[in-house]
Amino acid sequence: MKRVGAHVSAAGGVENSPLNAVGIRAKAFAFFTKNQKQWNAKPLTSENIDGFKKHCEENGFTPDSILPHDSYLINLGNPEKAGLDRSREAFIDEINRCSQLGLKYLNFHPGNHKKMISEDECLDIISESLNRSLNVTKGVTLVIENTAGQGTSLGYRFEHLAHIIDKTEDKSRIGVCIDTCHTFASGYDLRTFETYSETMESFEKIVGFRYLKGMHLNDSKVKLGSRVDRHHSLGQGELGLNPFKFIMRDPRINDIPMILETIDSSIWGKEIELLYSYTEI
Ligand SMILES: [Zn+2]
Ligand SMILES: [Zn+2]
Repeated sequence: MKRVGAHVSAAGGVENSPLNAVGIRAKAFAFFTKNQKQWNAKPLTSENIDGFKKHCEENGFTPDSILPHDSYLINLGNPEKAGLDRSREAFIDEINRCSQLGLKYLNFHPGNHKKMISEDECLDIISESLNRSLNVTKGVTLVIENTAGQGTSLGYRFEHLAHIIDKTEDKSRIGVCIDTCHTFASGYDLRTFETYSETMESFEKIVGFRYLKGMHLNDSKVKLGSRVDRHHSLGQGELGLNPFKFIMRDPRINDIPMILETIDSSIWGKEIELLYSYTEI
């Protein structure tokens, strides 16, 4: 079963996010459990937690249809100790917030080397951050997102994801999320059935579909391999609609949250409807 939704607002409290997902007839959703641009957050209240669980239950959102995203400030591969410590602490707090909400995934970006260390060294630091986080938390699977490779961010090659997984001790709590815009911007084509198949076969060989726990469905404003992260509405960017048809008909991609992060939230309902229309062949 395909579970398609969008990254919805949690303004006014996390308990509002499932209701915002219902409003666009989503069968999955993503949200931030705290303000994504700030380090500190108030702890979740019992009102937040109970309201969130109630709204999810009433509307059929099970934990495998929900993909919370962590803060943009966190850099688990930070070469500088103070920044790394702060990131690790904030990341563990994010995991605990997910646990409190009864969730099973936390989606995050691998990290940035800031031109201070090599890519491999940075990937090792990220793995160490994950090992430490997994040791002190329970139940939540950490879902690494592939990136466009903008600036010094890692995760723009499938090999980066494989490197991190390889050095993570508890592989039962590690997963990956493929963002179509990031995939394309980092140099993997998806626009024809041949290039889509090639990219997905290479993903299978290097990482493996068994690790795929989520997808971000976004078109791209920028060209193949430009290493810039600019999302666009489906069919309005460089990707066009074909990749989304292939994805919606791909039997390897089932029962995971598939999340729109496209730029015009007023058409999310239409985009979800369009995506589901591709499953009816
Ligand atoms: Zn992301
Ligand atoms: Zn992006």
